[in-house]
Amino acid sequence: MPHMNFDLHCHSTASDGLLKPAELVARAAANGVTTLALTDHDDVSGLSEARAAAEARGVCFVDGVEVSVSWGGITVHIVGLRIDPGNAALRSGLESVRESRAKRAGKIGEALDAAGVPDSLAGARRYAENPNLISRSHFARYLAEAGRAPDVKSVFRHYLVKGKPGFVAHQWASLADAVGWIRASGGVAVIAHPGRYGLPRPEMRAFLAEFRDSGGAGLEIVTGSHAPEQYVEFARLAREFGLLASRGSDFHGQGESRADLGALPPLSDDLTPVWHDW
Ligand code: AMP
Ligand code: MN
Ligand code: MN
Ligand code: MN
Repeated sequence: MPHMNFDLHCHSTASDGLLKPAELVARAAANGVTTLALTDHDDVSGLSEARAAAEARGVCFVDGVEVSVSWGGITVHIVGLRIDPGNAALRSGLESVRESRAKRAGKIGEALDAAGVPDSLAGARRYAENPNLISRSHFARYLAEAGRAPDVKSVFRHYLVKGKPGFVAHQWASLADAVGWIRASGGVAVIAHPGRYGLPRPEMRAFLAEFRDSGGAGLEIVTGSHAPEQYVEFARLAREFGLLASRGSDFHGQGESRADLGALPPLSDDLTPVWHDW
């Protein structure tokens, strides 16, 4: 398949991206993406706009989602590709995650209040186009605007990660539930940016084994979160565990993302891409 450019992970204003779904698709098309999946956090409300925009531009569109999961005491992300956004099991699962996410947002606001940063929940809400999806990114954008730190990245470092005043431990979906919802809707489950989790090798192997045994099928290899040496590291693990390989920028917006849509290197030839039978 010459000239195919798959980008199977990115975010719109339906979660914590900076571009509306149609704007995101326009940018992807301009960058030469031939197949795009929109994978907003815990929400599928951007998919219909994105699909219509993609059809108008001749871009193949894949319905996706990125589900927040707690596993082994850490947060991991599971991407669902080719999901049916109308599926009842998926919809109610994502709704339960969004409800708990909203409660967490309240707690983050209170924690920041107690740390001398008032009104941050209202501030975060102003940055969230989808009122049902408040993410730490929205808090970070507000705190950066309020001058608490020079940019979003340093807001995370000083306020929003474990050990910092605005961090609130949270129980997300279970791995089995997230994979189950994705599969129930006809989708394929893919582990997002495995290199971000800081898992030592034995724990990473346990995670991959449990994911595969729960019905998970894919592993992101080429992602904006990985350094080139991690492409090699996770390609090896994908082969060993019999997982399909995925590629996605995890683009959120200009200035907030390491990789632009469609701009990362291709998957190496000896991997089976998640799209091999599409
Ligand atoms: P949440 O799901 O609300 O906990 O927010 C997670 C999102 O925050 C991720 O999807 C990223 O978009 C963003 N994020 C997490 N860590 C960082 C960081 N260190 N710098 C910038 N953005 C981050
Ligand atoms: Mn995000
Ligand atoms: Mn993620
Ligand atoms: Mn993402």
